[in-house]
Amino acid sequence: MPNTPAIRFAETGGPEVLQITEVELAEPGPGQALIAVHASGVNFIDTYHRSGLYSVDLPFIPGSEGAGIVEAVGADVTDVAVGDHVAWVGVPGSYAGHVLAPTDALLSVPDGVSLDIAAAVPLQGMTAHYLVSDTKPLQPGDRCLIHAAAGGTGRLLVQMAKIRGAEVVATAGSPEKGELARSAGADHVVLYNEVDLVEGVEAAVGTNAIDVVFDGVGAATFDAGLHLLTPRGTMATFGNASGAVPPISPLALMAKSLFLTRPTLITHIATPEARLARWNELNRWIADGDLEVRVGHTFPLTNAAAAHTALEGRSTTGKILLLP
Ligand code: NDP
Repeated sequence: MPNTPAIRFAETGGPEVLQITEVELAEPGPGQALIAVHASGVNFIDTYHRSGLYSVDLPFIPGSEGAGIVEAVGADVTDVAVGDHVAWVGVPGSYAGHVLAPTDALLSVPDGVSLDIAAAVPLQGMTAHYLVSDTKPLQPGDRCLIHAAAGGTGRLLVQMAKIRGAEVVATAGSPEKGELARSAGADHVVLYNEVDLVEGVEAAVGTNAIDVVFDGVGAATFDAGLHLLTPRGTMATFGNASGAVPPISPLALMAKSLFLTRPTLITHIATPEARLARWNELNRWIADGDLEVRVGHTFPLTNAAAAHTALEGRSTTGKILLLP
C-alpha cells in the first residue's frame, strides 16, 4: 500500500512537537473502511494530548474528527460503500491524509452538506448537543452562562440553548468575538477581558441568577461561575482552555446546594445509536436553518502547529479545519 501524510508527535510539548511524516496505509480489515480525508477537525482536546495534560501512548497521531470520501472497504462491509461521503468523531489519527475507521463509527453526510461543514460538526456539535439536552436539559426560560461563546463549541452551544428556549448570557474575549456570540443569539454578552466576569454578568441579569454554567474555559472562570449560580443551580465544567480546574471540596457547593458535573463527549456517544441520534438532530437543525456552523479558519495539514498556536493563543473563532 502507498503512504499517506500524517502529523505525529514523539514527545509531548508545545506546537513545535507536531511534525509532518508519512505513514503506510493499511488495507481495511473486517468492519473497516479506508477514507481519504477531506478535512480534519482541530479541537482543544488535541492540544491536551500534545501538551501531556491528557496522557497518550507515544508516538501519537492526533485528531479524532473529520470528513472525507470512502476509498476502500473490508470484505464483509455492507453499511458503507466506496465513494460515500462520511464524517466521524472518535477515530484516532485523524490529522492525516487517510484514516482507517470502523464503519460503525462513520456518519453519513447528508446531500447538500459540504465535507467542510461535515468535518466541523461532529465533535463540537455533539458536545453542545449533549450539554443542553442531557447534562442540563434546558427548558424555556432557563438562564445559562456560556463561556468562550465565539469559539467552536461555544457558538454552537449558544444556538442550541436558544433552540431550547433558554436565555443566554455569553462571554467572549474581544468585541469582535462578542458580535459573533450575539449573532448566534446570545441575549447578553460580557466581554470578560474588559470587565470583571462576576460584575458583568450580575449587571446583565442580577445576583444568583444563573441556572446553569457551561464552562469550557476552566481554571480562569470556575469560581466566578459557582458564585453566579442560583440556589440548586448546575455547574457543568467541561474543559480546560485556560487550565484545569483545581480540586475543590464538596463543601464549596453547600451554601447554595449546587450540582457539579464534569461531563465528556465519549460517555454521551458510547453507542452507534447515541451517536447517530445526535448526528441526525444536528443535521435537521442545519437543514432547517436553525444551526449555523461557522468554519473560522483552515490550515494545511502540514501546518497543524500553526493551528494549535492560534487555538491556544485565543485568536480563533468558530471551527478550525486542517486540509490534507
Ligand atoms: P474554542 O474554539 O472554544 O477555543 C477556546 C476558547 O477558549 C478561546 O478562543 C478563548 O475564547 C477561550 N479561552 C479563555 N481563556 C483561554 C486561555 N487561557 N487559553 C486559550 N483559550 C482561552 O475551543 P473548542 O471549542 O475546541 O473547546 C472549547 C472547550 O470545550 C475546551 O476546554 C475543550 O476542552 C472543551 N470541550 C470539551 C468537551 C467535552 O465533552 N468535555 C468536548 C469538546 C470541547 P475567548 O477569547 O472568547 O475567551
